[in-house]
Amino acid sequence: MDFQLTDSMKEIRQLVKTFATEVVAPRAKEIEEKDEFFPDIIQKAGELGILGMELPEEVGGINSGTLTAVMSNEEIAKVSAAVCNVIGAVRLHLALIHQFGTEEQKDKWLPTLSSGRKIGSFSITEPGAGSDAANIKTTAVKKGDNWILNGTKSFITLGPVADMTIVLTVTDKSKGVHGLTCFIVEKDMPGFSAGPKDYMMGQHGVPISQLFFDNCVVPEENMLGEEGQGFKIMMAGLDGTRLDIAALSLGLSRAAFEAAASYAANREQFGKPIGHFQGVGFMLAEMETEIDAGRLLLYRAAQLRDSGLPFTKQSSMAKYFCSDNAMRHTTNAVQIFGGYGYSKEYSVERFMRDAKICQIYDGTSQIHRMIVSRSIMKEYKEKAMIMN
Ligand SMILES: Cc1cc2nc3c(=O)[nH]c(=O)nc-3n(C[C@H](O)[C@H](O)[C@H](O)COP(=O)(O)OP(=O)(O)OC[C@H]3O[C@@H](n4cnc5c(N)ncnc54)[C@H](O)[C@@H]3O)c2cc1C
Repeated sequence: MDFQLTDSMKEIRQLVKTFATEVVAPRAKEIEEKDEFFPDIIQKAGELGILGMELPEEVGGINSGTLTAVMSNEEIAKVSAAVCNVIGAVRLHLALIHQFGTEEQKDKWLPTLSSGRKIGSFSITEPGAGSDAANIKTTAVKKGDNWILNGTKSFITLGPVADMTIVLTVTDKSKGVHGLTCFIVEKDMPGFSAGPKDYMMGQHGVPISQLFFDNCVVPEENMLGEEGQGFKIMMAGLDGTRLDIAALSLGLSRAAFEAAASYAANREQFGKPIGHFQGVGFMLAEMETEIDAGRLLLYRAAQLRDSGLPFTKQSSMAKYFCSDNAMRHTTNAVQIFGGYGYSKEYSVERFMRDAKICQIYDGTSQIHRMIVSRSIMKEYKEKAMIMN
């Protein structure tokens, strides 16, 4: 593995760092306190080319590759996990429409989404189907030139503000995962509505809601990919977003570590800085070591993706390792700040609340361990056959 950065990668990372410090950081506290969405920041990210950076040049991107994108995410998450989360969500839509969309769908959505003028959501989860996503119940039934959708989606990021959603439905129950199909549902389509905003523990400012499909009429041309390709599209999307969430987690870990290290070097008790007590110093040592280890896991997975090689197992490893660490690192940062850590005066309590969801969405930490362990079983079954 060679993580030497090219000049162009360094330039993009610097551009994103400037965006994070000059545009996002001054707003981070206000977004947290008001819990209000921030379309102007997303449009600014669009203007700077940050949203569409992974797209090829012919469709307005800069072909940055995934490694550059995850490095950029870490910089944004360090100042605002909420903004990083939304940027990741926009990139997911761009990737799926670019990979699976028709020419008409690409013409309609790539320019508006990559400029931040329109926003999308990705609707898989239902009240009865979370980790077991293939068990969804939302149906799509063909009627003339349209499909009629019925069902409810839960916890949809950007649900209340999105102009469209990519929704996973069952089109042929008898075919199992091969009977799932994705559609692009636009917000003014008859029978489609969003529920009220859900209030969440962390990442305030990112609107979440249920979405309802009540005899929702969707034209045939809004099918994304082919009939029966829905599971493949969902997995393609999730493989990518796992890397985004690992990077977001890493940014949170780094923010917590830097705040805690600086506090520990300056806060004195018993006549010396608290970082000189082993109980505190070892927490910081472990944080920095694990941040570096997580970054290596993440960069390896991103580089495999950029090389067109399989990366599912490696992205699951990076996702659960970085997100579990982010939870522990942010909790330890609160501990190092003592009573001040529990106070809203300092950002470490926000980092801790923002970190929790990273262990849950885009596959829980348990589900990612399951993906890794299944992959190990498959590999070693094959190895045993060779030994025999
Ligand atoms: C803030 C937020 C934003 C979200 N955004 C979106 C979005 O944009 N689009 C979308 O489709 N969904 C979204 N989700 C949903 C999210 O992906 C699910 O919450 C997640 O996949 C877990 O599903 P669940 O909540 O139904 O939990 P469950 O699947 O019911 O799991 C409950 C617990 O059981 C464990 N568990 C389940 N199965 C196993 C198993 N086989 N082995 C071991 N443990 C297991 C889980 O790890 C978890 O700890 C979001 C959720 C939240 C909270």
